[in-house]
Amino acid sequence: MSATILGSGIAGISAGYHLNKKGVRNIIYEKDADWGGLCGHFVIDGFLFDRFVHLSFATDENDQKLFSSSVGMQEHIPFPSNYYQGIWLRHPAQNNLAPLKTEEKVNIITDFINRSQKEVSEISDYSEWLKVQYGNYFAEHFPFAYTRKYWGVEAKELETKWVGVRMYTPDLKQVLEGSYETQDECFYFAKKMYYPKQGGFRSIMALCRDGLDIRFNKKVVKIDPLQKTLLFSDGKIEFYEQLISTLPLPEIIKMLSTVPKEVLEATKRLRHTCGYQVSLGFNRPDVAKHLWFYIYDEDILSARVYSPSLKSPNNAPAGCSSLQAEIFFDNKSEILPPEIVLKNTIDNLIKLEIFKEEDIVVKDIRFEPYANVTFVHTIYEDREIILDYLRALDISSIGRFGKWEYQWSHQAFNDGKQL
Ligand SMILES: Cc1cc2nc3c(=O)[nH]c(=O)nc-3n(C[C@H](O)[C@H](O)[C@H](O)COP(=O)(O)OP(=O)(O)OC[C@H]3O[C@@H](n4cnc5c(N)ncnc54)[C@H](O)[C@@H]3O)c2cc1C
Repeated sequence: MSATILGSGIAGISAGYHLNKKGVRNIIYEKDADWGGLCGHFVIDGFLFDRFVHLSFATDENDQKLFSSSVGMQEHIPFPSNYYQGIWLRHPAQNNLAPLKTEEKVNIITDFINRSQKEVSEISDYSEWLKVQYGNYFAEHFPFAYTRKYWGVEAKELETKWVGVRMYTPDLKQVLEGSYETQDECFYFAKKMYYPKQGGFRSIMALCRDGLDIRFNKKVVKIDPLQKTLLFSDGKIEFYEQLISTLPLPEIIKMLSTVPKEVLEATKRLRHTCGYQVSLGFNRPDVAKHLWFYIYDEDILSARVYSPSLKSPNNAPAGCSSLQAEIFFDNKSEILPPEIVLKNTIDNLIKLEIFKEEDIVVKDIRFEPYANVTFVHTIYEDREIILDYLRALDISSIGRFGKWEYQWSHQAFNDGKQL
């Protein structure tokens, strides 16, 4: 028996590694010239930038050991920050209202006390969930705005099962304490995060990648599940026995012919975000003050900014530092051109006095067509229709976009292992 794996992101690498351990021959086909997928990186003039933020908070002890035996890890305590209308607040903002003006604090706390006491289990709409958890004023000024920036949609368009531990829900005591004094406690859902000292985020997979047969620049364009063949963009055809795909569901559906109407319609209803990364290198060591921070103001396109050089000093040349900003769009909305996004990001970060134009030595913008799966109300039925169809064709679909889930890297890794 042999397996063919599509995609060399962490899900594909994990599938290949675990199949090798079982003695199952496998080949990975990757459209890019390098491995790692979204966990990969690029280097410009000695500055290493991951493809989006990427810190590891794997929970499984064996996975942690495997990742840290691949590369030395640097530990980080996540103390992100928030920028809101000229004010910096520690994260999560709802527990750290202290720097806000009195009038705004009174509005937030009054609405928090008077919020509806509905059972969270009865709520299926994210906008209602936010109002019930935080009160109307906070919901409207903070997460509603952030939802438009991060998910590219209104909160009411989202369901709530994805939220899980991602949003901290304080009690009145915590809200009051945080409105007098910024809290020192880390309220982030992961109390510690890890990042490789060398080689960017994908180095956590270095041991797994060793010994894998990855064929690069092999973009699959057509799959024939009856003949069990793959057609590549270079015109070559390959046979497969068992097929494992980590490709986004909308992409794999396009590669199949005679897809039932119901499956095509379900695929059309899937929503996801696309994202730009604005990567900046500086000729000073001290530009980055926060490992990452969120921006709530909607005239600033960036939703989140983080520092590759704080993740590891080896991500920048000696005496330098770096930042990377993320800007997201819903796949069905208008996506602004890169030059506008780049200018908006740099101009605003200069206005925030984070750096000066003359500090910049590297300036880059790149686009990722798939960033986050969007949890619109129809997601669960639609993705089941598509996955059922792929199962019927004997195609195993795994990973963040192959399962169409909100997976972190260790979860995508686990997908490959489980399979
Ligand atoms: C903004 C953002 C921030 C994140 N931050 C974190 C974080 O801090 N910590 C964390 O653990 N996780 C984080 N993640 C999640 C993490 O990136 C994913 O869970 C993980 O990378 C998914 O891996 P994958 O293998 O499933 O998919 P991918 O990495 O997308 O791999 C799919 C692979 O398939 C290849 N491919 C696509 N089409 C074809 C084709 N036609 N033919 C051949 N190959 C093809 C692609 O090039 C790619 O290599 C973040 C994600 C985003 C978007």
